[in-house]
Amino acid sequence: MIKVILKKGKEKAVLQRHPWVFSGAIEAVKGKPVNGDIVRLVNAKGDFMAYGFYNDQSRVALRLLEWDEQVIIDEVWLRDKIRTAVAARMQLLNTDDTNACRLIFSEADYLPGLIVDKYADHLAVQVLTSGIERLMPVVIDELQTLLQPKSIFDKSDASSRLHEGLETNNKLLWGTLPPDLIEVKENAVVYGINIAEGQKSGFYCDQRENRHILARYATGKKVLDCFSYTGGFTLNCIKHGAASVTSVDSSALAIETLTENIRLNGFNQAKHTAIKADVNSQLRRFKEDGEKFDVIILDPPKFAPSRSALDRASRAYKDLNRVGMLLLNKGGLLATFSCSGAMDMETFKQVLAWAALDAGKQVQFIYQFCQPEDHPVRSSFPEGEYLKGLLCRVF
Ligand code: SAH
Repeated sequence: MIKVILKKGKEKAVLQRHPWVFSGAIEAVKGKPVNGDIVRLVNAKGDFMAYGFYNDQSRVALRLLEWDEQVIIDEVWLRDKIRTAVAARMQLLNTDDTNACRLIFSEADYLPGLIVDKYADHLAVQVLTSGIERLMPVVIDELQTLLQPKSIFDKSDASSRLHEGLETNNKLLWGTLPPDLIEVKENAVVYGINIAEGQKSGFYCDQRENRHILARYATGKKVLDCFSYTGGFTLNCIKHGAASVTSVDSSALAIETLTENIRLNGFNQAKHTAIKADVNSQLRRFKEDGEKFDVIILDPPKFAPSRSALDRASRAYKDLNRVGMLLLNKGGLLATFSCSGAMDMETFKQVLAWAALDAGKQVQFIYQFCQPEDHPVRSSFPEGEYLKGLLCRVF
């Protein structure tokens, strides 16, 4: 096996079982690994430290898999990791209310670069590392054996793939082509999911619990759902008896699917308004028109792709939330989220505090949202914690 030697002084993270080794921490490579090879990481003295996937195109040159020298990373190892991850989701799926969730979440499930989402009888896969790419025949076979899906679709269009020197993919891996809209249930709400053309793998399962929690506050209220995508929050709020819901998203396909989702659930169309627009412009329009809401949801895309972008992103979050606060009736609720891993909860609270000051409002944090059980955070990989949110009462 090819040997990668770690620089002296760089051992700590590896010993703490952090799964990433940056290229700058590598002293030397003995042999000529091909990207995706499993290599042996040793310290400067030559002692074994871990096994991992190698990729010299990526900033993360090694993605560590095992710290026990005796463990052999083979087909049996891989099948076991997949089975363990899938088994951990069974409790979530063993209800009549939900048949969509994330089955495998990359590093958090000890499979760096493999994401698998289950949408009813269909699976959407994202392959983000060359190591996993090479193991895909076994991955597909194990998923078939475990779940007998109707299709396995590869939706690997993430920019991170390019960092690994991989092409993007949008193709059927196994089975028959899924329908344009796969019908799934989440919290007993029905959604149509378009894997091939939708964002990410088609749906944001990570907001499942938060949609459910927020909806309790929507009964009888006038709700504004910003960055609605296909209506995750909107549909839960209508189901819980919101007086009206207005959804705003800049994607035409998202708005189209959201309208279809309202129909699929048999919800009253008269209670709902869909607006295809840029949220920032639309919020300013509402302000000019003197429009106010009781509950506002802000679930924007990732503003901070890295730590270096955090200052700029913080200003964008602050401005968005400031305008949101100004559009609330007195004592209204703002459910605000950040899916930027670089922004931690403390910083996010600080951003909200600035927004409140600028808006001339008083804010109480009444609930903290996080990512759900099918998006676990591995204790040795805090980077995997990305989704956070605050339910704020605004006076
Ligand atoms: N709340 C959604 C997920 C939101 S994902 C849910 O529960 O499923 C972020 C969404 O923001 C995407 O649908 C994207 O189309 C939209 N978006 C990104 N930038 C936008 C902008 N400037 N204005 C409006 N929508 C935007």
